[in-house]
Amino acid sequence: MRGAILYGPRDVRFEERETPKIIKPTDAILRISATCVCGSDLWPYRGINPVPQPTPMGHEYCGIVEEVGSAVTSIKPGQFVIGSFFASDNTCPNCQVGYQSSCQHAEFVGTAQAPLLRVPLADGTLVATPAVPSDDLIPSLLTLSDVMGTGWFAADAARVTPGSIVAVVGDGAVGLLGVLSAQQMGAARIMAMSCHPSRQKLAREFGATDIVTERGDEGVARIKELTNGIGADSVLECVGTQESMMQAINSTRKGGHVGYVGVPHGVELNGEKLFFAHVHLHGGPAPVRRYLPELIKLVWKKKINPGKVFDLTLPLDQVAEGYRAMDERRAIKTLLRP
Ligand SMILES: [Zn+2]
Repeated sequence: MRGAILYGPRDVRFEERETPKIIKPTDAILRISATCVCGSDLWPYRGINPVPQPTPMGHEYCGIVEEVGSAVTSIKPGQFVIGSFFASDNTCPNCQVGYQSSCQHAEFVGTAQAPLLRVPLADGTLVATPAVPSDDLIPSLLTLSDVMGTGWFAADAARVTPGSIVAVVGDGAVGLLGVLSAQQMGAARIMAMSCHPSRQKLAREFGATDIVTERGDEGVARIKELTNGIGADSVLECVGTQESMMQAINSTRKGGHVGYVGVPHGVELNGEKLFFAHVHLHGGPAPVRRYLPELIKLVWKKKINPGKVFDLTLPLDQVAEGYRAMDERRAIKTLLRP
């Protein structure tokens, strides 16, 4: 089997890798229908996270169950399934309260840019669709594995409810799907912060009512101006830098909520500033598994089309170009087909 391997900064190769097999009786092997490149894959790709040894890549996946271990009871060969980037048993105390990405037995699923994938804890991790989907649904179903679930968590953590005034920091795929999530949750106003015309257009399609092109303190000032000096009820932080985090906190009204899902890189919060900010902060790695049943329904009924974030589709063997296009911001998100 050949799959993606990251060797170092800007060096992804499509190479021979070990074919995955059942290791534990709770495992499943999937034949991947589609996978993709995540914004977070760009951190090691750009050398910001070190790559000590050649590393298989990919943590977003959907596909057909090929084989299951002897202890797997609910997942069956032939089913089309979606799972999260963290395998979870879905039964431990953390899972029971909806934080499957902090499962006591969580395992990272990180080898998905390949034709075959081993998923641990199959019964707890994977959710089957009502039937094998038609091809046109596959991009949207794939987004539920991470990017849509993460945007949804950002909106949920920021307590978006009907009538909310929302701001979204970040116009990557997660931020754009955060806009879509806020729209689904009934937000009255969604201010998307973006200075890229193609991303602004998609943000509008997903429900943004205002586009804010300024960033940092100027972005905060613009949000304040648009909300009579008050700030937004709910702010989704979908980047993970010091600037974006402070932009989110300072754009939030007193008593409002920040949902932060950008993986932090060098973010440090000043205790005194946080104290006087008077906002709720909630975030972390999205418990995508919690939302899968609900989001599968929305895609299945064609109520949402999050697959629109894929503006580049490539055969898996061109994975290196998929990374390059995202790194150079020529593509919002690359879908890969084995
Ligand atoms: Zn658990």
